[in-house]
Amino acid sequence: MLCFEKSSRLSVAALKTTASGIVHLVGAGPGEPDLVTLRARKLIAAADVLVHDHLVHPALLQWCRTGCEIVYAGKTAGCHTVPQDEIDSLLVRQAKAGKRVVRLKGGDPLIFGRGGEEAAALAKAGVAFEIVPGVTAALAVGAYAGIPLTRRHASSALVCLTGHEDPAKPETQVNWRSYGALKHTTLAIYMGMGRIRHILAELVAGGLDPATPTAVVQWASLGRQRSVAATAATMADAVEKAALASPAIILVGEVVRGHEATDWFEKLPLFGRRVAITRTRDQNSELRDKLEALGAEVLELPLIRVTKQVDKDGLIEILTELGSYDWIVFTSANGVRFFFEEFFKGFEDVRSLGGLRFACVGAATARELAALHLKVECAPATATGESLADALIATGSLDSAKVIVVTGNLNRDTLVKKLETEGRAIVDRLPLYATSRTDLAADPVAADFRARGADAILFASSSAASSFASQAAALTLAKDAKRPLAGSIGPQTTETMKTEGMPVDFTAKEPSLDALVAALIKKLGNR
Ligand code: SAH
Repeated sequence: MLCFEKSSRLSVAALKTTASGIVHLVGAGPGEPDLVTLRARKLIAAADVLVHDHLVHPALLQWCRTGCEIVYAGKTAGCHTVPQDEIDSLLVRQAKAGKRVVRLKGGDPLIFGRGGEEAAALAKAGVAFEIVPGVTAALAVGAYAGIPLTRRHASSALVCLTGHEDPAKPETQVNWRSYGALKHTTLAIYMGMGRIRHILAELVAGGLDPATPTAVVQWASLGRQRSVAATAATMADAVEKAALASPAIILVGEVVRGHEATDWFEKLPLFGRRVAITRTRDQNSELRDKLEALGAEVLELPLIRVTKQVDKDGLIEILTELGSYDWIVFTSANGVRFFFEEFFKGFEDVRSLGGLRFACVGAATARELAALHLKVECAPATATGESLADALIATGSLDSAKVIVVTGNLNRDTLVKKLETEGRAIVDRLPLYATSRTDLAADPVAADFRARGADAILFASSSAASSFASQAAALTLAKDAKRPLAGSIGPQTTETMKTEGMPVDFTAKEPSLDALVAALIKKLGNR
């Protein structure tokens, strides 16, 4: 008895430890989402609460699980949206409530990011925390402008400096003249654009050769990266002429010399091109990745919002009879995600799937299943419902077989009908989500598109073209915005675009994302 009591007390204590929260101070890297660490990605996906800055790429927020609370605590120069002590107490409060909190900061959290202050506040409050480093802006600038930050015989030191100091500090901490006197050193100046003329003049006054090669790189690692190279004496004018502004790094030092030869990023075929794509299907991140790998700045217009909407009775009926089904068909990654969320509410063991075989459409859907270590036995080369039906029928296993088709509020009628009539299968639909239009008036990407336009807009499906057309009013371009050339993935999409009264400026040679991208390069490529 005593023993029992003891152990039950022990388990309560253990429970308390697991229930107490933690704050992860995580570096989000310089911009390009692929530059975050694996640890960052894992923590973002597991977070209960995510608190982020304005320089954090929006794509990172999409890694959050459904239900994660996302808090914007961004600051822009001179305009502190959320005071630091409020951020500190928010982190403490959430962690004490047992939450897993990710505090996501641009670049590295401890380099000019006030991560140190946040860590100190957490330590003081007795909250557990972890710090995950990130690629800091100076390193990204070096890599993406082809500038080695140190080089044998030219520079044996890298100094990171801030050009924007706490205005409350009585005297300036950075003694620019003393840095101007350093030899064989690379200076990387953060937040210096507002005072660039003053900073460079002070460096020169301190002994820096006015002819020293200097570079300014804005938005490093992203498709919208821009840079100029000049000397310490001419840079302030060059920056003004090119209208470069924050966020940018000023690099000063011999290492900048000759960087044109290794400037690989700005030489990519789509570098400097703004390409709009529509987010209506799962394949978009694939298209986005392809375009970004070629240097383009991608604007992903979120035309459609997917929300979980479960037909509870239908779900229970299917889950209780799961063992009697032969195939389950997924037509979207969301379908896979929502199905398994519901499945694991009822079953603890993945083996409860029994002998179900998996069929799916689209690379993103297949990836979602592969992540669960489930083998996809049927996936057509062309990503349409019709080809999936053909591929399933071709397996010769459909006659009298029981099939689940996971759907959204669009019922996949063609697919289902074909499986029933041509394949002679017994099909049950399982609706798990609904797709609806996004409010484009409030969306920042749509606002950017309206204000500045784009060089091209790509339509990778008929449904993308029709949702674009149906929301055209919310996407009307400003007077001086760039009118994009419209590209279509294939005949079906082209037809829809024409029916909707949209121009078609180019079409892919065959209906694939690669061919669509190739057509774009042919039309707009830099080389
Ligand atoms: N913790 C961040 C720095 C925050 S201070 C880091 O480690 O990178 C913000 C400044 O970082 C900006 O004003 C700019 O100077 C620099 N910066 C951040 N991202 C940048 C980018 N993609 N390209 C150029 N400079 C960048």
